[in-house]
Amino acid sequence: MIKYTHDTALTEASRCLMCEDAPCHGGCPSSVNPKLFIRKIRFADLAGAAKMLRNANILAGSTAYICPCLSTCGSKCTAHELDRPINISALQRFVMDWERENGLAEINKAPANGRRIAVIGSGPAGLACSAWLAQSGYQVEIFERHDVAGGQLRLSIPEFRLPAKVIDHEVAFVKKLGVQIQLNSEIKDIKKLKHDGFDAVYLSPGLMGSRRLGIAGEEKKGVYQALDFFDPFEKGRKNQSWQKGSCRRRRRHGD
Ligand SMILES: Cc1cc2nc3c(=O)[nH]c(=O)nc-3n(C[C@H](O)[C@H](O)[C@H](O)COP(=O)(O)OP(=O)(O)OC[C@H]3O[C@@H](n4cnc5c(N)ncnc54)[C@H](O)[C@@H]3O)c2cc1C
Repeated sequence: MIKYTHDTALTEASRCLMCEDAPCHGGCPSSVNPKLFIRKIRFADLAGAAKMLRNANILAGSTAYICPCLSTCGSKCTAHELDRPINISALQRFVMDWERENGLAEINKAPANGRRIAVIGSGPAGLACSAWLAQSGYQVEIFERHDVAGGQLRLSIPEFRLPAKVIDHEVAFVKKLGVQIQLNSEIKDIKKLKHDGFDAVYLSPGLMGSRRLGIAGEEKKGVYQALDFFDPFEKGRKNQSWQKGSCRRRRRHGD
């Protein structure tokens, strides 16, 4: 994974053609406009670039690591015709890593409207929804059944692909907006939340199940379903080294 310094980021940003009607913008499912944040890198306004990215995509830090950029914005990049596409995700990583090391971007918030929203699940859907609601003036509380926040970002995506410190920073950003996160809090009864005074409930429990192959021997000891294999919390296996070892094996096989 490419990691730019100030100099190499500037060199890459300088290759951007600053297209009038930049096609890369249309290629981003999160509505990020790469041209605009790349221009800010060129003018050494990294705080402005981080703010712009966060405004378009609350989880700009983690998506900079795991978004398949070459098939989204990168596939539309005009520089591709001349040489190779701009490495947009590496530039976004550069900006968001800078933000992590230099302080969180300030995001404008609407005044409190007195309404309370419960969010079930602290995966990317729950975190992003909570952040947007908090920005719009709602008082938001996330209920997460695990003892860590982040959902599959934390539980399944290996450290070498998405470092824990990046997820910690995303969670810190959401908390900074005033969102409270209750860990070890599995919700089994939504009606109780209404009874507890919440005006609405947002469900973002994810799809915490693996698709079975339906082949003989699948139930045998030592055969793991994909999510159980990654998730040391799911079955009470708190031994992180088991997970790290598995990730290293996967990496060696280029999986
Ligand atoms: C191995 C793996 C690799 C991946 N790699 C990528 C990638 O490179 N790029 C990419 O874009 N996507 C990737 N994904 C997909 C991505 O992680 C998911 O699309 C995303 O996490 C879904 O977000 P979510 O918030 O909907 O659900 P989740 O991330 O599953 O979060 C749901 C959360 O809800 C909690 N929860 C569930 N029920 C309750 C309850 N009753 N009470 C309280 N809490 C509850 C869960 O504990 C969990 O924390 C990958 C997924 C996996 C499994």
